[in-house]
Amino acid sequence: MAGLRSLVIVLGDQLNLDAAAFDGFDPARDAVWMAEVSEESTHVWSSKQRCALFLSAMRHFAEAIRDAGRVLDYTRLGRTDDGSGAASTLGGALRAALERLQPQRLVVTEPGDWRVLKALEKTAEDSRIPLEIREDRHFYMSVKEFSNYSQKAGRLRLEYFYREMRRRHGVLMEGDVPAGGQWNFDADNRGTFGAGGPAGIPARTAFEPDALTREVLELVTTRFTAHPGSVAEFAWPVSRPEALVALQRFVADRLPSFGRYQDAMWSGEAWGYHSHLAAALNLKLLNPREVVAAAEAAYAAGLVPLASAEGFIRQILGWREYVRGIYWTRMPGYLESNALGAREALPAWYWTGDTDMACLRDVIGQTLRHGYAHHIQRLMVTGLYTLLLGVTPARVHEWYLAVYVDAVEWAELPNVIGMSQYADGGVMASKPYVASGKYIERMSNFCRGCRYDPGQRAGSAACPFTTLYWDFLMRHQGIMAANQRMSLQLKNLQRIGADDRAAIVARAAAIRRGEIGS
Ligand code: FAD
Ligand code: SF4
Repeated sequence: MAGLRSLVIVLGDQLNLDAAAFDGFDPARDAVWMAEVSEESTHVWSSKQRCALFLSAMRHFAEAIRDAGRVLDYTRLGRTDDGSGAASTLGGALRAALERLQPQRLVVTEPGDWRVLKALEKTAEDSRIPLEIREDRHFYMSVKEFSNYSQKAGRLRLEYFYREMRRRHGVLMEGDVPAGGQWNFDADNRGTFGAGGPAGIPARTAFEPDALTREVLELVTTRFTAHPGSVAEFAWPVSRPEALVALQRFVADRLPSFGRYQDAMWSGEAWGYHSHLAAALNLKLLNPREVVAAAEAAYAAGLVPLASAEGFIRQILGWREYVRGIYWTRMPGYLESNALGAREALPAWYWTGDTDMACLRDVIGQTLRHGYAHHIQRLMVTGLYTLLLGVTPARVHEWYLAVYVDAVEWAELPNVIGMSQYADGGVMASKPYVASGKYIERMSNFCRGCRYDPGQRAGSAACPFTTLYWDFLMRHQGIMAANQRMSLQLKNLQRIGADDRAAIVARAAAIRRGEIGS
């Protein structure tokens, strides 16, 4: 590749051929660079499902690049490399490639991760090669636009951001007013599966691993043996054609009931009516506009109720864009946020699911098996427990970034630090998402098969969530008193007498010592 003009860097979550980094690509003078580096699987203890998805999707995308007639320099992860070599880090692998290929400049689409951005900038600077970073137009809103919006908005709130996005992009609008005369059908999105449980949920859209994926699964099993989870049931879409099938099947089979059962949980039911598209979106195998358009078209055709289409679109046009904006306008400090001063260690059983709490056992179990849990399972089971326990937010972040197939830092961090752990002190969420075990009892059947009782806050049968909930309110009463939205919960706390409070504190301490729940 003598006389190479641009070396276009493609990161593991930038698997779209129409990315800005390819603008003006000249196959005669430019080349693409991709590398599998062990650092991306080890900087957090990445689950086998997550490692496998990224590696398989990258290898499929490499084929798509070659099919598109673009020259590609691709480094594969070896089976035996112990990770100590220069190529074990992104910066090291890139430095080696620059020495070999001697390009005049580097081009990349904005990375999705602060750490990666800094590594690329440093390598380019050390190598004295200009690095051009192009805006990521996969998203509806650029970081600059979000920054302007948030400065004007003052206090950020998803609901107003979402309305603005609906207006700006003309999504589910009838002229100037929202379709159906209402912006938000959230109240219709809280159904449960009822006492009898879910019936007739379509089977997951599963993709049989092809030869390329099978090779990756074997690599992951041998190379990352000690990493959490298993790839025995790996069935994620790993290419754009597969992702398009997953989208089409979701809209046809699940979207009609998505809204109603968005928050519902049931033991052994990993998939519900959710889309399972976050990983395909975050790897850029799908564009959010085509996903939103598919949901809107299904509503317009009368195939999907408005509450479902709106509820789904809100997640993508609203939440997804909102968390990305928060990430890039708050980093790097956001990573260290700890507004509640939480200092506990993450229970070791978060990596195995080995707990006697039925809800956590089920949610962590499916997470390790599939790299997936839906929003309420993440927020109101695994996230709620660490919040109530008082785990250091950075440790919680590392767990979420490691275990989910859709985990990329720009999406994961605000959801964990802001929404789930309230560690940013209220930037993302107007109040902490705290609840007792009664919430989990209402939204699922987990408690029926559990040795604990969600209605009890002290005593040997007391549900750890319930004990820790009251303990949380006592510990953070001072901070919470300033928040109007917590007043009802604090009022209920006032009704608890001194003896009961002492019993709660003692049991919470035993839970923290690991004597209960593990
Ligand atoms: P669906 O329920 O079908 O939702 C549709 C789509 O909307 C998702 O595919 C996703 O692209 C988007 N979406 C929904 N909620 C959010 C949200 N809060 N933030 C951003 N996008 C959203 N999402 C990630 O993409 N990556 C993460 O690492 C991640 N970590 C999370 C950690 C915690 C503690 C919590 C509470 C949420 C997290 N989420 C994350 C958001 C959400 O839980 C997942 O996007 C969703 O569960 C993925 O499943 P799905 O594709 O079936 O989503
Ligand atoms: Fe979870 Fe408590 Fe219900 Fe057990 S009783 S399943 S620990 S909420």
